[in-house]
Amino acid sequence: MPPKPEWAQLRRRPCSYCGNPFKPTSPDHRFCSPKCRRAWHYHGGSYEKLRILLEKRLAGIEENLDQKIRTAVAVALTAE
Ligand SMILES: [Zn+2]
Repeated sequence: MPPKPEWAQLRRRPCSYCGNPFKPTSPDHRFCSPKCRRAWHYHGGSYEKLRILLEKRLAGIEENLDQKIRTAVAVALTAE
């Protein structure tokens, strides 16, 4: 695919493998270097799957904690 002029305006994004920010030269660039791209494919993208799973778990834990704090505050306020 030949590069399009508007692609020069693409914002920096984190590399899907190492997380370092890089300037993509096409909208579907996900890696900062060929080394990271190869490493990601070598590991079968398992880190990516794990990262998504952990982010979901973490969001659930945060939600649960938020709810507990709200309940505790509400109890403390009504006790006064
Ligand atoms: Zn990278």
